[in-house]
Amino acid sequence: MANISELFGVNVFNDEVMQNMLAPETYEAFRNAVSQNEPLTLEVANKIAKAMKDWALSKGATHYTHWFQPMTGITAEKHDSFLTKKRNGNVITDFKGRELIKGEPDASSFPSGGIRATFEARGYTDWDPTSYAFIKDGTLYIPTAFCSYTGEALDKKTPLLRSMEALNKQAVRLLKLIGKEVKKITPTVGAEQEYFLIDKEVAARRADITYTGRTLFGAKPPKGQELDDQYFATIKPRVLAFMQELDEELWKLGVVSKTRHNEVAPSQHELAPVFDSCNVSTDHNQLTMELMKKLADKHGMVCLLHEKPFAGVNGSGKHNNWSLSTENGENLLDPGENPQDNLPFLVVLAAVIKAVDEYQDILRVSVSSAGNDHRLGANEAPPAIVSMYIGDDLEKVVEAVISGGEYSGRKTEMEFGAASLPKFNKDNSDRNRTSPFAFTGNKFEFRMPGSSCSIAGPNIMLNTAVAEAFDEFASKLEKAEDVKKAAVKLIAETIEKHGRIIFNGNGYSEEWVKEAERRGLMNLKNTVEALPHLVDDKNVRLFAKYGVYTESELKARHDILLEGYSKTVRIEALTMAEIARKDIFPSVNNFVADMCGNIAVKHEVLPAVDTTIEEDIAARLSALNSEMMARVSELDAYLKDAEKISDVLVAARYYRDNVVTTMEKIRAAADEMETSCDSSYWPMPAYGELLFSVK
Ligand code: ADP
Ligand code: MG
Repeated sequence: MANISELFGVNVFNDEVMQNMLAPETYEAFRNAVSQNEPLTLEVANKIAKAMKDWALSKGATHYTHWFQPMTGITAEKHDSFLTKKRNGNVITDFKGRELIKGEPDASSFPSGGIRATFEARGYTDWDPTSYAFIKDGTLYIPTAFCSYTGEALDKKTPLLRSMEALNKQAVRLLKLIGKEVKKITPTVGAEQEYFLIDKEVAARRADITYTGRTLFGAKPPKGQELDDQYFATIKPRVLAFMQELDEELWKLGVVSKTRHNEVAPSQHELAPVFDSCNVSTDHNQLTMELMKKLADKHGMVCLLHEKPFAGVNGSGKHNNWSLSTENGENLLDPGENPQDNLPFLVVLAAVIKAVDEYQDILRVSVSSAGNDHRLGANEAPPAIVSMYIGDDLEKVVEAVISGGEYSGRKTEMEFGAASLPKFNKDNSDRNRTSPFAFTGNKFEFRMPGSSCSIAGPNIMLNTAVAEAFDEFASKLEKAEDVKKAAVKLIAETIEKHGRIIFNGNGYSEEWVKEAERRGLMNLKNTVEALPHLVDDKNVRLFAKYGVYTESELKARHDILLEGYSKTVRIEALTMAEIARKDIFPSVNNFVADMCGNIAVKHEVLPAVDTTIEEDIAARLSALNSEMMARVSELDAYLKDAEKISDVLVAARYYRDNVVTTMEKIRAAADEMETSCDSSYWPMPAYGELLFSVK
């Protein structure tokens, strides 16, 4: 492996490269534009484009692409070479500021939620100078935002950038009022990514994994995660080789991949990067997921980013660690030595508490998907109820602020009971793994997103909701005579009013579900229940007020997400019906027929022999096979009916109530058959083989 510091960022057109390649005044103009959110002039863009091209060509690149994040949840790219033909017929390389700033991909085949009819195909991509361009596979990638001809966002980046700007504006305004002068506040995010690695040959024999990224069938293997022997265990050589190459490739692209380890379920792993601005982190998380899939394939494995690839073992999530940073890198959620006197910290904390309580619904919406429905509330992942954990220590701080009393605590020494071990200070709170939104010392960790989720959504919600809380605080404090006194009062009032969202106990317990209901918290059990709230009046108003989504943009997203849910379920149902009909039914049938043949032969040769067991198994399998096929016919009928429903919400409800429930029945019958069918007849690799094949 090459030297890590030489490797890092070699394929990124970063600050250092720009300083080297741009004239000082051009570099200065670029920096100012980025730090003050101002547009660049075409003249400056031309100079940057030239430097970018020269740099890219020197690295062997031949093409450039505007890289964007349409509503598919993945990224999109169309490559153009740097070649251009001059009038005299000579071919030269060229790349102008115009091409850097603006792209015009045909937008007709991306989800738009009815914003744009296909005949109005024009869409624009617009360079995002706050995320560095980079080279991957011989192409210069330019991160961009994607809008329709009429300026409506068709992607995830545009609203994310809008939400960051709204948050910045209100944060700077509020902090100034309480005596903290800052130029810029940026939300920072570190996204921990969980994933599964499965042997490629084994996975290829599973049509469900190929089409849906998860298993639709599979009986429980004798061993799962019961022994906790995978969590943080020694990493197997094949997996380690993959992780090493993944890290190297990510480092080259400027992604600060930091932590790698085995997760709880067999074949499950995690990667965590060092946090960055939430826009850059979103881009980097997309790159991480893409590279995971690509490199897994190279290493003879398949990377599953589905939220619940296997029943009976943990699914995969993505923890969105979120905080706020000043232009100097100061973390506003760092409580410091004396949190009770740290007014900016307490103000931000109170604002986040208010925001999460008032906008539980949109946070829940942002993590909703057919895949995550199998995970949330399933006793391994956070429940579907949004609540916050702030820990005992912070709770005491908060109580002291509310009562005006004294807070004394903090900093206790860790005692291992062996004198030879060095001492250090303990963290102020223990961890709570069951909370959906936990304060973890100097940041909030939102744990509901599923592993395949773009983190743009959750951060758009969070940034905008907190922007409103800041705005309301600022408007109140602007009228106060003694601002600091008023701020303390405001913090106390806010925490009193929104304290119901704070829950430090076990989020997996049945009692919590009841307690949450008593507190009036929302319990949106699944995607179809959650999504309609996106367009509730209060949410339409919120996003419009801060210029994050217009009403029509929001409605479009609501439709796209519901449609996405229905389409995903439909693909899974079709896959399931095909496997049941073409693979499981005939295989079990053959096994039963052969067994019946054996029984007949036995009786002929050994008339006295007892064949009750074989007969029972054959009869049971026959019955289950018929039951499965009866359900498959039902499923066919539901799928036909569903196609006729034009309203997206009605359709999604139909899929959830009829298709998903019938699929569960099909699976139950098939999984039971698997447990007593001769494995040489069973048409696909069993869970044991899938989960334990990578050595
Ligand atoms: P855990 O113990 O929860 O698994 P990790 O150390 O694996 O935590 O990951 C924590 C994540 O939080 C990392 O991605 C880290 O960069 C990120 N993080 C740390 N500080 C901040 C911050 N101020 N803002 C946003 N993310 C942060
Ligand atoms: Mg974590």
